[in-house]
Amino acid sequence: MAEVSSKELYEFKKTLKELAEKKGRGTELVSVYIPPDKQLSDVGKHMRDELGQSANIKSKQTRKNVQSAIEVILQRIRLFKQPPENGLVLFVGMIPKGGPGTEKMETYVFEPPEPITTYWYQCNNVFFLEPLEYMIEERETYGLAVVDRKEATIATLKGKKVTILNHLTSGVPGKHKAGGQSQRRFDRVIEDAAREFLKRIANHINEEFLPLKDDLKAVVIGGPGFTKNDLVDADYIQYEIKNKIIATVDTSYTGEFGIREVIEKSTDILDDLDVMHEKKIVQKFLKELIKDNGLYSYGEDEVRNNLVIGAVDTLLLSEDLSLIRKTFKCPTCGFEKEFTVKNQSEADSIKERCPNCNEIIKEDSSELLVDDFVEKAEEMNTAIEFISTETEEGMQLYRAFGGIAAILRYYVGH
Ligand SMILES: [Zn+2]
Repeated sequence: MAEVSSKELYEFKKTLKELAEKKGRGTELVSVYIPPDKQLSDVGKHMRDELGQSANIKSKQTRKNVQSAIEVILQRIRLFKQPPENGLVLFVGMIPKGGPGTEKMETYVFEPPEPITTYWYQCNNVFFLEPLEYMIEERETYGLAVVDRKEATIATLKGKKVTILNHLTSGVPGKHKAGGQSQRRFDRVIEDAAREFLKRIANHINEEFLPLKDDLKAVVIGGPGFTKNDLVDADYIQYEIKNKIIATVDTSYTGEFGIREVIEKSTDILDDLDVMHEKKIVQKFLKELIKDNGLYSYGEDEVRNNLVIGAVDTLLLSEDLSLIRKTFKCPTCGFEKEFTVKNQSEADSIKERCPNCNEIIKEDSSELLVDDFVEKAEEMNTAIEFISTETEEGMQLYRAFGGIAAILRYYVGH
């Protein structure tokens, strides 16, 4: 699988959101999913069949639009010798901008972040996005282990998919009743063996989970006895993995059954994780806010200023932020000025004159305010946290701070 950066993932999520809002006038938006191992010549043949069948569509307008969409798909796939590593997705259709007659052909062609497994062709009044939405959900990985004195099983949970990565057995003998001197020596041998086994488990956990650490959201350790606690308390697990252990869970079984038990018992813990993370970040910001010389900043202009000088450690952006950033340009001298607006009509009402030549400046480009901030944050290696409005803290960020806040690297004054 090709590596996907958080920036690419963000872009991908944004594209999905945009695509989800597009609606055709009739069932004339075409979606095609091509797996990496599919012959493009077969896809071409299928498209020509669909083109033939579309002649039966009753509405003249819909027929015409479906046919042009399929023509575009045929042209586009001709540009490829074979599908890219993760396959190819195409969304093509006439999207209305307003009333009848305002439709414009829109074409989206891209390689998804994970391989496409099933070939799909769909013609509907919306684009077919479920497989892509599923890919986003599926990226988050949980590390799981069940351990006792005798055996250990290491697994991951990705979406609904459980993968057993490793299974170890200790060879530690059971408790033995002999009594006296030899009993104590025997106990010591058992304890040494148990410790060695903990080390072995930890080594395998490190080996399996470290390569996944960027996608690894949390680790849960389960098991029937105290071995799981000994494992968590000991320093054998590498700290980057250890920091992600969020819970230990009692189970009746070990092995694969034990893993299933851990998943069942930690569903609530895992669901709360996102929410907990968001709450923590906002609380950290609020804590700075009440300190003398607190490392905080909020509001569009102040945060932007701090962002461009590299003073921002963590940028907090509300997911509900829908403001737009517009760049206006003087047609004569090229003078530029940026504005933040709620919508297009607000942008249309801007009538400012160029300070150099007194000419009325005109809208030149437009992007979501969020994107503007994300770009600036990435230039400065600033961490970005998107905060939903599902929590009280998230609502507070949106309502009281305009949805834009920052935890700073150093004090800049207020
Ligand atoms: Zn000018």
